[in-house]
Amino acid sequence: MLATVYGVRGSMPMPGPSTLRYGGNTVCVAATLADGTRLFLDAGTGVRAFGKDLFKQGLDKGPVHFLLSHRHYDHIIGLPFFEPIYTPELHLIVHPIENEVQERRRARAQIFDGIQTPMKLSQLPSRIEFDPGGEPDDDWGIGSARVSRIKLNHPGGAQGFRIQDADGASLTYLTDNELVPPGDARTTPEEQAAFAHRTGLMIADSQYMPEDLPAKAGWGHSTVPQVLQLAKGAQAHTALLFHHDPDRSDAALDAIGEQASEFASSQMDNGPILVASEGMRFDIKPDACVRLDDRG
Ligand SMILES: [Zn+2]
Ligand SMILES: [Zn+2]
Repeated sequence: MLATVYGVRGSMPMPGPSTLRYGGNTVCVAATLADGTRLFLDAGTGVRAFGKDLFKQGLDKGPVHFLLSHRHYDHIIGLPFFEPIYTPELHLIVHPIENEVQERRRARAQIFDGIQTPMKLSQLPSRIEFDPGGEPDDDWGIGSARVSRIKLNHPGGAQGFRIQDADGASLTYLTDNELVPPGDARTTPEEQAAFAHRTGLMIADSQYMPEDLPAKAGWGHSTVPQVLQLAKGAQAHTALLFHHDPDRSDAALDAIGEQASEFASSQMDNGPILVASEGMRFDIKPDACVRLDDRG
């Protein structure tokens, strides 16, 4: 499985001189499965660059699948500017969203409502489908992979995904998520570690530093040390610290990266743990994850 990171920022886009190296676009990650099926996770502002890459790859290579963690703005703001939706060549399949009421087809269609977006679903020339159409199981197929999901701890709800490909490669995506929320957790850190067990690439919300708490307790995001422990508990081959705070500068992320690599080298058999940056690419194998050159 090939994975490309198109956006790493949480909450809102942060262009400017202090975010040049890690990137200011909000979250979006794309993957190509063993059988060539293409999917993407979330549609923050990073999805615009993914759309341009899809044009280069060609839209005639089967449907493109869209998995959405939840409907907060930073995860859908790029969708009206994902240019392939304005072409008849795109066949987009939108997968179930987070909770039982919202995930009905009608709620998914509201993402394209013609009010927040320039065009309504019925006006778009692309072919957009909702699959599974009814109540989904917790586990369903996309191309050569099985997709399973887990409820995350986040205001309004959010869901994480594990994409388990037929060849054994896997990608686990856990954002937005407060590992240790102030009230009852919908899912514990141990359950999340089990969900991500020995995954090739784990991408996890680590927006905060311990000093951001307790002021931001209950806001729905985890701290860097909590995610380091999650990566260790899950024995992820590679973990990515993700959904960076808008105020986190490149220099601050460099310091977090040093802390993460010290933790991985002293406390983990596998690793590494990296700070996500725009353009990162990975070749995920059944029992390894190889970092490729960044997207050009
Ligand atoms: Zn977010
Ligand atoms: Zn959110």
